[in-house]
Amino acid sequence: MIEGLYIHIPFCNTKCPYCDFVSFVNEDKSIIKKYIDTLKKELNLYLEKELNFRLKTIYFGGGTPSLIEPEYIKDLIEFIKNNIKHESSIEITVECNPETYRYQQFKILKDAKVNRISIGNQSFLKKNLQVLGRKHKPEDTIEMIYSAVDSGIDNINLDLIYAIPNQTTDELEFDLKRYTTLPITHISAYMLTAYENTVFGELVQNNRLTLPDEELSSKMFFLIDRFLEHNGFERYELSNWSKKGYQCKHNQGYWNHKEFLGIGVSAWSFIKNKRFGNEKNFQKYIDSLKENKLPISFEETLNDTEFEKEKIFLGLRTSRGIPKNIIKHEEKIVELQKNGYIKVLDDKISLTPRGLMVINQIVKFLID
Ligand code: SF4
Repeated sequence: MIEGLYIHIPFCNTKCPYCDFVSFVNEDKSIIKKYIDTLKKELNLYLEKELNFRLKTIYFGGGTPSLIEPEYIKDLIEFIKNNIKHESSIEITVECNPETYRYQQFKILKDAKVNRISIGNQSFLKKNLQVLGRKHKPEDTIEMIYSAVDSGIDNINLDLIYAIPNQTTDELEFDLKRYTTLPITHISAYMLTAYENTVFGELVQNNRLTLPDEELSSKMFFLIDRFLEHNGFERYELSNWSKKGYQCKHNQGYWNHKEFLGIGVSAWSFIKNKRFGNEKNFQKYIDSLKENKLPISFEETLNDTEFEKEKIFLGLRTSRGIPKNIIKHEEKIVELQKNGYIKVLDDKISLTPRGLMVINQIVKFLID
């Protein structure tokens, strides 16, 4: 049963130096219309396959979905609702960048039954926004939050990036204080990573940029975790904290291994133990659909062992954890528990903050 639908909108105002998402700067408005039509075509091809849908969530991610006219998002939602079985309480999220939508646009989204937005704020300090290559001002985010709330959309996530070059823990604390005084329901906090094929990746490789070391990065993670837990937010996944009842249902679907379909350039899907991804090249994506072919460029089927391993990895990212009996070697659990990396409660294993910092090593240790 497919419960989640992800829609990738690849357009951005500028390319951030740390970003490894498929996105590009587009000046030509006519391309947007063409892209929306292509998304519908892609969906139609899936509908012909008579897949088993019962959508609980729709997620517009990017790129910057809020760069396109909200009417396009409304149009897509109507198209989906008219053609795909879905729950009446469906969660619909739109990612927004602070310098884009305001009240008028949010009102259109609200009419289209969008009930959640996720804002790419990253920091409230100009200095750190500059390092990250972000073009918005701290005030833009505040304006955006209050415009969304005024329009009736009050389930709001704010992204935070930490472990920024030269960032101090005092600066991070300043951000956390600011975040927790705003009317938001959710915070996604990501440690800055210098991915290959990004400007930051190249700079780090050439020793022209240094990221905070492991010790400082971990200290920042613990600070975030403690601060947010003391201020009404609960960590339910490695990078996600929410107020009670406001976990992101869409992302929970990924971590709970639910089936989802992704459409748009570079989007990923997971259906019937098969993971597949779309063309990353915009033109190839468009051309493939012009010929009525699904733009899939990669696919793999997970065997039982791979599926099990992935379940352990995804489960351990969450505070829910995994059933203890999935792990065959009791002595490994005892060792990790003794060293403060995991906790065992009601026959479930979950990672402590210390364990989350080395999740990859722990998963490897447990399944090898
Ligand atoms: S706005 Fe987001 S998607 Fe666009 S370049 Fe920056 S980080 Fe990447």
